[in-house]
Amino acid sequence: MLALVAIVMPVTIIVVLGYVSLRQWEASSDLLFREQARDMASMAAEKVEMMLRHTEDAFLDRLQQILSAQERPERALDALLSESPLVGRLYLFDRRGERVYPRAWRDGDAGTFGPLAAEAGKGGADRGGKYQIVAGGQICLARLVTARGEIRLAAFSRDIETLRRDILDPALRALESPTIVAVLDPAGRPVYSRAPLGDAEHMLAVGFRDALPEWRLAVYQPPGAAPRQAVRRQVMLFTVAFGVLLVLIVAGIVASWRLTRRQTEMARLKSDFVANVSHDLKTPLSVIRMFGETLEMGRVTDERQRRQYYGVITRESERLSRLIDNVLDFSRIEGGRRTYEMAPTAIEPLVRDTLDAFAHPLAQQGFKVDVSVAPNLGELPLDAGAIGQALANLVDNAIKYSGSERVLSVDARAVGGRLALTVSDRGLGIPKAEHAKIFEKFYRVGRSDTQGRRGSGVGLALVRHVAEAHGGDVTLESAPGEGSRFTLWLPLGRKPDA
Ligand code: ADP
Repeated sequence: MLALVAIVMPVTIIVVLGYVSLRQWEASSDLLFREQARDMASMAAEKVEMMLRHTEDAFLDRLQQILSAQERPERALDALLSESPLVGRLYLFDRRGERVYPRAWRDGDAGTFGPLAAEAGKGGADRGGKYQIVAGGQICLARLVTARGEIRLAAFSRDIETLRRDILDPALRALESPTIVAVLDPAGRPVYSRAPLGDAEHMLAVGFRDALPEWRLAVYQPPGAAPRQAVRRQVMLFTVAFGVLLVLIVAGIVASWRLTRRQTEMARLKSDFVANVSHDLKTPLSVIRMFGETLEMGRVTDERQRRQYYGVITRESERLSRLIDNVLDFSRIEGGRRTYEMAPTAIEPLVRDTLDAFAHPLAQQGFKVDVSVAPNLGELPLDAGAIGQALANLVDNAIKYSGSERVLSVDARAVGGRLALTVSDRGLGIPKAEHAKIFEKFYRVGRSDTQGRRGSGVGLALVRHVAEAHGGDVTLESAPGEGSRFTLWLPLGRKPDA
């Protein structure tokens, strides 16, 4: 419990700290992402501007050259126009605002270019030899000089399709960014976008400088590309990983706690075992010694009594041997050294011999004994010594754990192709919860009425081992106060006689 609290506390702190730092990370990565996007957009706008300026400057240079060189430049101008796809329309006006090129207005141009002719006389278009962009970036104005020194105002429009194809696309296509870059005209309509905008989210927009006034370069975020979402995914991953880790830690703690508990329990059982065995050894020894000494002193003169004493000594030594055999066999089993020698054995004499060894205590304690061995069992391949010992343990328990109702039944019969060797009593019985545990080594049911009885706790472990070594098993039916019924199941060597 303490270990759990010791884990839960730091884990909670880590979770809270983790959450807070993830939120900060989310906010700062968002900010960083925006800054980077803004820098990238400014640089892109700069590049577009430069490319546009460069192309238009080159056009104006050639225009100036033509005007300086030729008195009647119409044809050269026509040729220049056809070589400059970026220039949509070109008009030249003189100082008084009269149109000098081309001869006639083209569809609707009078409305857009006409009013600009007035600029010619003002000199406003001359900004250090550079041109000026008017009408929302639609028209560029520049002041030029002819060969005779006359002022000419050039006004030209841009061809949007060429602008998109020759300037915007080469400048913006290769940008390295998960975002979508788009160019918006003064009305906010996208003139160009690097990828379909779809339902991408508008992040920010920067302006161009002089070359495209009122136009903007906008950055959009495709769905799912926001750093916030990337961070969310990280948070999810982190949370899941953390959850798994937590489960593993708790499972580890529970497992080691159970292991320690089991080991402590085992250590306790072992020390009980030593105490119990020593006690069990001591009791028959002191009886033997007492009767031996009495006989030695020659005080018993009555022949019948003397024989009775010899009988006691013999029975107690038999009990002692049984106990020692149990402990030795148990230690052989534990060390993996117990071997079994199978030989054809008849069941009836085996049962009889085992019960004979208990004849005295059974008679003395007033047990009613029922023995029933099916006649058709024949001989079974088994280790007679081991099975006899297992049976003796079961009988010994039946005697030990009987209350006032003293009935012992031993029954051997073939059931479903197996030999069922059953030992039942009408004694204390065993609670259901203990059924599995009593077959474990050293385990004794912790009840005051059991603890009053001597025992080492290895008897049933031995019985189970013997049964399993014979390819069988041992089962139990019992309830407190209703007696117990242990059955040793052994494979029959052959089909029993019908
Ligand atoms: P022990 O030396 O204590 O008898 P066993 O391994 O033979 O050790 O038995 C384990 C425990 O099972 C006993 O301590 C006892 O509580 C319970 N037990 C075994 N046989 C019986 C029985 N016939 N009736 C009631 N309890 C029994």
